[in-house]
Amino acid sequence: MTHPIPTYPPNNPEATADSPRIIPRSDHHVSRANISRNALKVLYRLKDGGYQAFIVGGGVRDLLLNRQPKDFDIATDASPEQVKALFGNARLIGRRFRLVHVRFRDEIVEVATFRGLGNEDLESEDRQILDDAGRIIKDNSFGSIEEDAWRRDFTVNALYYNIADFSIWDFVDGMRDIEARTIRLIGDPETRYREDPVRMIRAVRLAAKLGLQIHPEAAEPMARLGRLIDSVPAARLFDEFLKVFETGHALESYRRLREHGLFEHLFPATAAWLAADDSRGEAGGCRNRFIERALANTDQRIAEGLPVTPMFLFGVFLWGPVQDRANALRRTGQLSEVQALIDAGIEVTDQQIARITLPRRFSVPMREMLQLQPRFSRRQGRRASVLLEHRRFRAAYDLLVLRTELGDVPAELADWWTRVQTLSPEEQRREFNGGRGGGRNPQRSRSAEQSA
Ligand code: ATP
Ligand code: MG
Repeated sequence: MTHPIPTYPPNNPEATADSPRIIPRSDHHVSRANISRNALKVLYRLKDGGYQAFIVGGGVRDLLLNRQPKDFDIATDASPEQVKALFGNARLIGRRFRLVHVRFRDEIVEVATFRGLGNEDLESEDRQILDDAGRIIKDNSFGSIEEDAWRRDFTVNALYYNIADFSIWDFVDGMRDIEARTIRLIGDPETRYREDPVRMIRAVRLAAKLGLQIHPEAAEPMARLGRLIDSVPAARLFDEFLKVFETGHALESYRRLREHGLFEHLFPATAAWLAADDSRGEAGGCRNRFIERALANTDQRIAEGLPVTPMFLFGVFLWGPVQDRANALRRTGQLSEVQALIDAGIEVTDQQIARITLPRRFSVPMREMLQLQPRFSRRQGRRASVLLEHRRFRAAYDLLVLRTELGDVPAELADWWTRVQTLSPEEQRREFNGGRGGGRNPQRSRSAEQSA
């Protein structure tokens, strides 16, 4: 089923198919020294094969903003088959929009043929015109470089670095927005958000990551159209969750998602729990501080090169709603604290997962982390000592420390669990015995002597 073909007038009325604004090498600072060797190899091979070859998207944008890009995507007028024919180490991927992955030892370089406008939903039979032998003679999914530029989301993402002369081609006034440090949509913002509501999240994420402002016309529709995010496939939102929260700018992204009314469409139960915070201070109440501290810790870990897992932030986001639900369950039924927490964990997680997929390998440990929380209040006995050995101890302990922000855990209890981890096994045994160790415990002998 085909959608009407959108037409996006370029923001710059002077730009036409034969005249992008071309910024010569002397007028910009994108340097080959900052482009990966493999990407350069691919670009030169395409050029020597007689094709156009450009870096486009985040790679050009980040270099212009003096950031090191995480990868370089290449756009060309060669068809995927033509690209593949040039490289021994290439594979065709993707069903509808076939891309070529050129594989190197330490990197995969993605090469895409210029894409046309509005063909996203054409089934492959409609898309391709075949000759009698079944060879593709025309593929409607492909287009000119200018069409390829217009179908991108933001002007700063639609700049093309040309390997032929190191110039930058600009069809949509992306350079102006790079200089103004501004995220602006290509074409009418509302139309572009309706086509793909994830663009709202992308705008906020890129603004947070790169310290850009969102143009007022790009920001304005968000409050109205945020609800369109509710029907985005949950698996796609999980991919986006990872980009927003697990790449080192989670705190800033979270603040901006809330500011633009988008967070509630990602974590509705968490947003409702935050809204009910009755201890609001200057920077929001203690619930917001709890979340923000977790996000800051995650950013810090990434900055230090430490591993992060999405299960932890999901658990942080769901902790409040799970507790509320567990309390409600306890009021109505005869459930134990532990059982109420287990049932609430399942319910709240199931609701959230309908919005954003969380694969089982994360959701199972996440619920374990939540369920362990009541066990921290017991410091004595075997159940307390084996908690230290639990495979979710570390994550559960990190959550315990964060909970001191909420005031639902005394700081003294968190401090005790912090300290107990630093002790020798012998000293730990003594702690778990309530300060009384075995016969080899000198402290005990001393107190025994005193009381004798
Ligand atoms: P990052 O540095 O986080 O990877 P990016 O801009 O490179 O940011 P990608 O998801 O890698 O983001 O996308 C590459 C390019 O594809 C973008 O720069 C943009 O031109 C285009 N693009 C990505 N997502 C969309 C979208 N939803 N709508 C239109 N164009 C998009
Ligand atoms: Mg990218």
